[in-house]
Amino acid sequence: MQSILQCMDCSRQYPIDQIIYNCDACGGLLDVTHDPDRLRETVSRELFDSRLGSLDAPYNSGVWRYKEMINPDVADDLIVSRPEGNTNLYNTPRLAQWAGVKKLYLKHEGENPTGSFKDRGMTGGVTQARVLGVSRVACASTGNTSASLAAYAAWAGIEGIVFFQNKQIALGKLAQAIAYGATGIQIDADFDRNLELVREVAEALDIYVLNSVNPFRLEGQKSIVIEIIQQLRWQVPDWIVCPGGNLGNSSAFGKALHELYELGLIDRLPRLAIIQAEGANPLYQSYQHGFDALRPVHAETIATAIKIGNPVSYAKAVRALRWTNGVVEQVSDQEIMDAKAMIDRQGIGCEPASACSLMGVQKLVSKGIIKPHETVVGVLTGHVLKDADAVIGYHQNTLDGIQAAYPNRLHQSTADIQSLRTILEPQPA
Ligand SMILES: *Cc1c(COP(=O)(O)O)cnc(C)c1O
Ligand SMILES: [Zn+2]
Repeated sequence: MQSILQCMDCSRQYPIDQIIYNCDACGGLLDVTHDPDRLRETVSRELFDSRLGSLDAPYNSGVWRYKEMINPDVADDLIVSRPEGNTNLYNTPRLAQWAGVKKLYLKHEGENPTGSFKDRGMTGGVTQARVLGVSRVACASTGNTSASLAAYAAWAGIEGIVFFQNKQIALGKLAQAIAYGATGIQIDADFDRNLELVREVAEALDIYVLNSVNPFRLEGQKSIVIEIIQQLRWQVPDWIVCPGGNLGNSSAFGKALHELYELGLIDRLPRLAIIQAEGANPLYQSYQHGFDALRPVHAETIATAIKIGNPVSYAKAVRALRWTNGVVEQVSDQEIMDAKAMIDRQGIGCEPASACSLMGVQKLVSKGIIKPHETVVGVLTGHVLKDADAVIGYHQNTLDGIQAAYPNRLHQSTADIQSLRTILEPQPA
């Protein structure tokens, strides 16, 4: 059987090459579903291990190494890959100590070609755009999705269209989208409204939507957890912790873990912890009420990548949390920026939203939910240079409402040895 599109709520099925984002019958979100019998016959730890270090496309990609679980029937020459993935999994003992656990790894998705995990989804989405033969793709974005879409559309030779909010967009992300040649439109509306607009315009003008409502993106993002577990020699950590904004990534993690378990590639499930910013916490609020309902919020946070009040993949994220006995936590902007400074100071670096992972671990340990002896993998979603303003503002202590706990002040000197001596001479203890 070929892979199909399937409604997560009513199970209605659609052909894999139909352009559709929500179920016609009930409005539910769609999954790309692969034939489990066929998968069971083809995939194994050995197969995926045999492709490690491959120099040839598509298996040189940390997404397409797992092609059978991503998009098995696509012709190799249609795959649009930079190639992405193959990001480092850092063992970080000093941060483990800071967070209060014995073993902490950080998976750095900022090491992808355009500096965020969005590339793993975009290779899936733009490849499907090519399979479908469309010539224009579009997304609304808080920044990283547009940077990624712009790059992958350019690489594929099709037009990329990106809708931005006209304020509070991190400069690195905006610069990338323009540089890669996308058609960029700034709109006086927040992300949630821009997403509605992009879907209306796309429908009217026959443009393929590559927001994370597009299930082929989530298939690509599954590779983050598959790769983590392969890097751990197929040993399952106790926890995987990631930031939650539109909740596409959390959803993809849940689906990947569920499938790995069903296929026997792992023998137990890690628990998923999704961390939201306090000012953009609709999933956290719903979690507090037993997932009774999603109540959209007006989002405000310095972590612009997760400044989302009405997450599209809410239902899939709830499913992921149920599959993995997961938890949701929230952290303040102050906590996010201090945790980020800790990550940056290790020489690793990440953008603000990514630091939710580390801050979330510390908070969940202090609440006794994560136990000190447990093995934790935190996902760093974006690169430190994405939001240089946040870095400089933090260390100069000019960010609104944030008092830097770990500032690294820049020194000023006149051009003479005496002045330099005053700065650099070791201070008596
Ligand atoms: C997109 C993004 C997120 C949020 O991911 P969702 O899938 O929307 O929950 C977090 N961090 C960074 C850096 C991102 O680009
Ligand atoms: Zn349905």
